Amino acid sequence: MRVVKSPKALQRLATQARQAGRRIGLVPTMGYLHAGHLSLVHEARRRVGADGLVVVSIYVNPTQFAPTEDLARYPRDFRRDSALCREAGVDVIFAPTDLYGGRATGRYSTYVVEEQLTAGMEGASRPTHFRGVTTVVAKLFNCALPDIAVFGAKDWQQAAVVQRMVENLDFPLKLIIAPTHRESDGLALSSRNKFLDPQQRAQATVLWRAQKLAQARVRQAGRGGVPVAELKAFIAALVAAESAARLDYAEFFDPKSLVPVETVVKGVHFALAVFFGSTRLIDNGRM
Ligand code: AMP
Repeated sequence: MRVVKSPKALQRLATQARQAGRRIGLVPTMGYLHAGHLSLVHEARRRVGADGLVVVSIYVNPTQFAPTEDLARYPRDFRRDSALCREAGVDVIFAPTDLYGGRATGRYSTYVVEEQLTAGMEGASRPTHFRGVTTVVAKLFNCALPDIAVFGAKDWQQAAVVQRMVENLDFPLKLIIAPTHRESDGLALSSRNKFLDPQQRAQATVLWRAQKLAQARVRQAGRGGVPVAELKAFIAALVAAESAARLDYAEFFDPKSLVPVETVVKGVHFALAVFFGSTRLIDNGRM
């Protein structure tokens, strides 16, 4: 396994691999790896084959954090991450110290902006977030030159936005969306779970319970579906019943266009964000 720090070095390595006929699979992460990340690594390996090159990027991307957010306290443990990557059979870790060298000198001035799918949900709660995501992902694609890139369904809106960027900007690669990896009680694995105290951790299953209960209600209603206001009120009450939880949003929408629906039927997608103190958790799933 190699650890590469500079975009130029990764481009050289990726170009050589491509010339040798190897397929490249990229898994972008912000590190502090957990089993969810590793499931993406295994999916990348499955797709590119034993001869392929699996690249994991580990970079806490500053442009996707607002000044008020948790960039400084975002968990980092490179030694542990690199041991996990080695065990998982990763070929290359891309761990740049800074991808915006020009920012300090005032020479970084280029951003990628998706203007439709970013309006609601995460984009509404975090207005500068997706500009940072699309910019860094475009940069990672230009560094790793992947044939496939694997993203998690855990960040549903992010995956939709990146998919749109790939289509709109003609990136020559296929995006793979891998399923959300969960704890046995349903909580989606997240690097931010480590910030939860025991009470918050116990109550954090409300994100999963909200999904399952909404899903049961929708399935039970059948073809006619359920008015979205009814489900939103139900979820608001469910979250309010947890003393440590504060609902940020709960939305029901078309899984591809992300356009909100009035009536929730089977196949509609659901996403929610819940604060526990200053820790914000998200989750989503299909009704
Ligand atoms: P992050 O390091 O949180 O930026 O996540 C890097 C990638 O891992 C993203 O594509 C996430 O959607 C994905 N991911 C994060 N948590 C999970 C999970 N529990 N299951 C599957 N994929 C995940």
